[in-house]
Amino acid sequence: MPAFLELGPRKNLRTGRSVWSAVKHAHLRANRLEKDLKADIVIIGAGISGAFMAHALSRISDDVVVLDRREPGLGSTHASTAMLQFEIDTPLTELAEQRSFSVSRRAWLRSWRATQDLIRLVRREKIACGLGRRDTLYLAGNEMGARGLEKEARARNRAGLDCEFLPGHQLRARYGIDRTGAILSSGAAAADPVALSRGLLRIAMRRGARLYSPVDVKQVMASAHGVVIDAGTHFIQARRLVFCMGYETVKGIPARGVKITSSWAAATAPHAAYPAWLDRTLIWEASKPYLYLRTTPDGRLIAGGEDAELDSPSYRADTLARKARRLKQKTEKLLPGLDIDWSHSWAGAFGESRDGLPIIGPVPDMPNCHAVMGFGGNGTIYAMIAAQMMPTFLRGKHPVDADLFAFR
Ligand SMILES: Cc1cc2nc3c(=O)[nH]c(=O)nc-3n(C[C@H](O)[C@H](O)[C@H](O)COP(=O)(O)OP(=O)(O)OC[C@H]3O[C@@H](n4cnc5c(N)ncnc54)[C@H](O)[C@@H]3O)c2cc1C
Repeated sequence: MPAFLELGPRKNLRTGRSVWSAVKHAHLRANRLEKDLKADIVIIGAGISGAFMAHALSRISDDVVVLDRREPGLGSTHASTAMLQFEIDTPLTELAEQRSFSVSRRAWLRSWRATQDLIRLVRREKIACGLGRRDTLYLAGNEMGARGLEKEARARNRAGLDCEFLPGHQLRARYGIDRTGAILSSGAAAADPVALSRGLLRIAMRRGARLYSPVDVKQVMASAHGVVIDAGTHFIQARRLVFCMGYETVKGIPARGVKITSSWAAATAPHAAYPAWLDRTLIWEASKPYLYLRTTPDGRLIAGGEDAELDSPSYRADTLARKARRLKQKTEKLLPGLDIDWSHSWAGAFGESRDGLPIIGPVPDMPNCHAVMGFGGNGTIYAMIAAQMMPTFLRGKHPVDADLFAFR
């Protein structure tokens, strides 16, 4: 019996002007869907998840088709501040309580390795996306104080992750930040997410992948023989399908404990005045709502956070100015002496899972269909992990760590 899946309608994923709208990104030539198609593998979604997937799958098949209802990279990926952190939103100690130390350790180590692999891949493929290595400072906040962070740092060391707990006096002396403590780690990075996703797609297309946009997929029919994709005006037949649809997640995909919330961000114009060490360091905090900071190669300071448990485009738009003011106040309080003037502010839908881990794997009861749902602040790293696992899934095998990210 074939299984059917209705895909959700187009959502308002972003509000305001993201900092990436200031960058002239190279255009990708997409095809128009003017007839029915056949393909070996179809990927729905050309955001960062679909781009990593196309890059990986175009190595194992010369018949990959990527479909998107928008231009590539103009979904949630355009809202991302693209902090490429191996540190998962859920602290290692907390995830260990939810899912055991062994699971938590494997998830954190996998995230660390994927981050290093991503950095190597971008350099090897020479993708011009402003990628730079960064340390991270995870500051004590209202969710975890110095004692909790010290315990977290010990647990990370025990798991095999290098990091250092900085007590308050050292944090003040080295960074001028007045908090009770922080965890300092190396191994993160930052990039331009739209340039990265288009760079990956361009390589996939050079290997023969075909990009079609705008194509709005309405429904999927899956059976043991393959899948049929209803794109409104035309049908696409494929052997295998990978959903990389971001937060326009399918209603019928049975992911428990997943919710869509909202997140805000703002950026200064280039050449902003800020301490030089910020160019080498990402900042985030153990707080709810949290604040995070990064800079760009042309000297913009980007702040983000202020998350709210509501997925409402009108709320995101109505509160944009207030949230941008709040991000300014918080940043100036954290780094005294700054005088911030935002040139861009924006907000977007933000997906969260209960344990902060993504969902990657075969869709239950949908033969030949796999899904990537990269939740939390690590969507980019999760996209990389999904692309590393998918070739094995498509061979009908279980890749290492499949159990960590399976539908649950
Ligand atoms: C303010 C903010 C800051 C963030 N900061 C970071 C950060 O620092 N680091 C990080 O890693 N992540 C960050 N994120 C999260 C990040 O944006 C997401 O994890 C990531 O962009 C998801 O990528 P995606 O490719 O899965 O989704 P998308 O970029 O949304 O791509 C999915 C694509 O699927 C297409 N699609 C969906 N349904 C259909 C359909 N039925 N037919 C055809 N096409 C379809 C859409 O048009 C879209 O282009 C942030 C998010 C926000 C809002």
